Amino acid sequence: MITSPAFAGKHYAVLGLARSGAAAVASLLAGGARVTAWDAREEPRAALADAHADVADRLAFADPCAIDLAGFAAVVVSPGVPINRHPIGDAARAADVPLICDIELFAQARGSLPAHKVVGITGTNGKSTTTALIAHLLDCAGIPALMGGNIGLPILGQAPLPDGGVHVLELSSYQIDLTQRLDCDVALLLNITPDHLDRYDGFEGYVEAKTRLFGMQAIGHLAVVEMKAEMELDVLRHAPDGQPFTFIEGVDLPGDQADWPSLSGPHNRANAQAAVATVRHLGVGEAAIEAGLRSFRGLPHRMERVGEANGVLFINDSKATNPASTAPALAAFPPVAGHRRIHWILGGLPKGDDLDECAPFFGNVAAAYTIGDAGPRFAEILEPHVPVTRSEMMAAALNQAIAAALPGDVVLLSPACASFDQFRDYEARGECFGQLVAAMTGPAAPQPPEQSSAQPGAQPGGGEPV
Ligand code: ADP
Repeated sequence: MITSPAFAGKHYAVLGLARSGAAAVASLLAGGARVTAWDAREEPRAALADAHADVADRLAFADPCAIDLAGFAAVVVSPGVPINRHPIGDAARAADVPLICDIELFAQARGSLPAHKVVGITGTNGKSTTTALIAHLLDCAGIPALMGGNIGLPILGQAPLPDGGVHVLELSSYQIDLTQRLDCDVALLLNITPDHLDRYDGFEGYVEAKTRLFGMQAIGHLAVVEMKAEMELDVLRHAPDGQPFTFIEGVDLPGDQADWPSLSGPHNRANAQAAVATVRHLGVGEAAIEAGLRSFRGLPHRMERVGEANGVLFINDSKATNPASTAPALAAFPPVAGHRRIHWILGGLPKGDDLDECAPFFGNVAAAYTIGDAGPRFAEILEPHVPVTRSEMMAAALNQAIAAALPGDVVLLSPACASFDQFRDYEARGECFGQLVAAMTGPAAPQPPEQSSAQPGAQPGGGEPV
């Protein structure tokens, strides 16, 4: 675990005891702090009390909104807590106690870690892919690297890296809001389009939150940004004067994108450019970069190939929770000899009222199958452009898509919506799709013998990511 003597003797409140909150409590206690922890649910509180029974004198349980916070060093909140609406915002302000997250605790602990570097990655889309790719390229070059942060790996729960290691942190705008002094050796803002506007004062507030990452950098540390975002939104507004920066669009890539099976599409080219600029700055050589781009195997639920049957490819892109992240998935499969190939399953809990970002690629879509709350609205938008089936449910959509798809076609789940109307989260949605693909195209379905080794039935819900 990562901890620090800087925590000793101080008193922290921790609100939200899921993975990152529980790791923060453990790190603070190990550093010698007192902790008042809280979660609305009893189960994580009980688990935490059990795990730290040996230091029960330094661990109490109380809702930080209901106690006097005077004298606390900070309130550590889970990034899932909407601080713009939640009473903890007022309670902390009234007591003049900073609201932070585990990333800020990590920043405060850095002084007691072996010499290391930090890469921070933010943006509306592509964060996880780019985070994983940077860690992979460092790995290929023999540089010790660990991923952490929003990618689902709490940073404080990790073992400190040896001298010369690199912490590669995926950062959501919520985490940046709750961080004051993370000086990234390389900070990346991949792209920025409207998202999460329920948490911010309009798009401008969201941009402001993301760009604060540069304001925390020391002079001389690199910023990697999308040129378009800098031109349109002045995303380097907080960067220190004279800060070196690289525009993502201008980065040269070694080799041929066709040889990178998990980095297809224009969006992944941009992700690769951002990652390559970063690792070059950290001293990785061209041979390791070239090998790393070829051997990268992507992440589940992002353009993940979950099966192939009768010449039809099944792609799970459940992580595409807004139209901007679905657009590149549609762009990745242009028509062949005038034949449109994509059978597009979309819908869920909408984040907006349009599909404008996807519109330039409607010409790649053979047919659309709408599901979930957004189904009727998306059907209305699409009907003038492509044949639409109002499927409502995932199983029906897949069934209908399979019936219509021809060899060479692609059945693509890229919903352009959040999942919470019908699923626990995007992972559950992607797993459901993968299992349905396996069930509907598996051993019972007729398969030409030469394709038997590629039958998705042999690997339910999984398969080689593309
Ligand atoms: P994040 O962690 O920011 O949500 P992911 O890497 O998990 O990003 O990808 C989420 C979705 O966004 C995937 O569906 C993917 O196809 C799409 N995507 C990935 N990179 C980009 C990009 N640079 N621009 C637009 N969309 C992207």
